[in-house]
Amino acid sequence: MAPEIITNGTDEQCSRSPAGKSIADFPSNANNIEYARSLDACCPLRHFRNEFIIPSKSNLRAQSLSEISASPMTDSASDAGIYFCGNSLGLQPKRTSAYVQNLLSTWATICVDGHFRPVADSPLAPWQDLAESASKLCAPLVGAVPSEVSIQNTLSVNLHLMMASFYRPTAVRNKVLLEFHAFPSDHYTIESQIKWHGYDPDEAMLLVTPDHGKYTLSTSELLATIDAYADQLALIVLPGIQYYTGQMLDIPLITEHAHKHGIPIGWDLAHAAGNVPLQLHDWGVDFAVWCTYKYLNSGPGSIGGLFVHERHGKVEYADSKSETGHDTESANRPIYRERLTGWYGGDRAVRFNMDNKFIPIPGAAGYQISNPSAIDLSCVIASLSIFNETSMQALREKSLRLTAYAEHLLLQDVPLIDGETAYKIITPCNPNERGAQLSLLFKPGLLDKVGQGLKSGGVVADQRKPAVCRIPPAPLYNTYEEVYTVVRIIKEAVS
Ligand SMILES: *Cc1c(COP(=O)(O)O)cnc(C)c1O
Repeated sequence: MAPEIITNGTDEQCSRSPAGKSIADFPSNANNIEYARSLDACCPLRHFRNEFIIPSKSNLRAQSLSEISASPMTDSASDAGIYFCGNSLGLQPKRTSAYVQNLLSTWATICVDGHFRPVADSPLAPWQDLAESASKLCAPLVGAVPSEVSIQNTLSVNLHLMMASFYRPTAVRNKVLLEFHAFPSDHYTIESQIKWHGYDPDEAMLLVTPDHGKYTLSTSELLATIDAYADQLALIVLPGIQYYTGQMLDIPLITEHAHKHGIPIGWDLAHAAGNVPLQLHDWGVDFAVWCTYKYLNSGPGSIGGLFVHERHGKVEYADSKSETGHDTESANRPIYRERLTGWYGGDRAVRFNMDNKFIPIPGAAGYQISNPSAIDLSCVIASLSIFNETSMQALREKSLRLTAYAEHLLLQDVPLIDGETAYKIITPCNPNERGAQLSLLFKPGLLDKVGQGLKSGGVVADQRKPAVCRIPPAPLYNTYEEVYTVVRIIKEAVS
């Protein structure tokens, strides 16, 4: 079911004090490495860490491949680095290399037959079935029926394809609502689609901004904006989780509101997929797109995912007989939602007939265009097979506690500079309004110091200029002890 999202939770409603509203209350000895270790020791998901290659501090500093020790995996705790960058590029699962090796072996041995012929002891289906295997594994993570998911292309390309189908502007109704601080690629995609249709982005892009002095978007403000522009809006595109602030939007509420006005809505789930439980089918979302290399750990630039609701994937036929009882040419033509097409979206039974009569596969797979990369799909399947050994609910439970622990420690004895705290957390304090990530906004001039401190402590975490550092503990492989250490390093760096 939908996570119990509380809308309009604002800083006023939940105090940032350590004793404030929090998913987990921590005891007075929480700021202690022994306490952190005790949480790890009783964590029911702790064995998943062993499924990942945790980089060693020495490998993180390597300048050449030959410098990297024979085995890239470190099992020596003292040399283990701390990886807090799963929101950007997830760690490599240990099993990925075996999956990819299987693919390479099949290609090297049975060659073109690998498309169709099953290989008994391989963890991979024939290549023609890999996209479907990946969709099946991904569907429970986003709360979809498997046929509503397609693993194809990359996020921005999929957003273009979805807009080609769902953005049908008219002279009156041509605006797209998005957020002011959208990820650049999303902004460019929407801007160029508007131009492509011959409209002016300055007029047609409706950017919602946070209230003055705030960092996060207000749900009521968003809904009011939709109301105000309802008859001019052709489409809404929003992030499930905002990449910079870590704010999670109320997907079901906003989706329902858009639909009340008959406006289609698509969600960018780059930072939500594999991070929080989603129920895209039940929420009635029109479409969604995500990448698989962030929380989904499928490798740099790996193939992306998309969701198209069942109601938009139908392929129907008019009655095969006309009223006079004769077959008609038009009656046999499939009826489906318009889209940009390619041969891989075509019905597999007739795909290789090469007769140039396009009949889409029902569901999201009918939005495919090209033959997908089998290497990418092998990486996705390897990674998703780990997710499928647990559930998003179990991962979310741990994630809530890990992030609450980070927040708890960060808010204790915050170093002061000229009487002001060295940093503040700009991510919503309400756990129902965020995923794994906390975004710290530092006082001017401190970010570089923090970056240096983290680097010399063997921590990988990203800094977004001018002043934000994002801390996204990933429940599959990060530990409470790592959270403890990272917070200690950050505080030391700014003291
Ligand atoms: C990571 C990310 C992307 C990446 O797009 P690609 O097409 O995979 O390069 C796009 N949008 C958002 C919001 C992201 O966080």
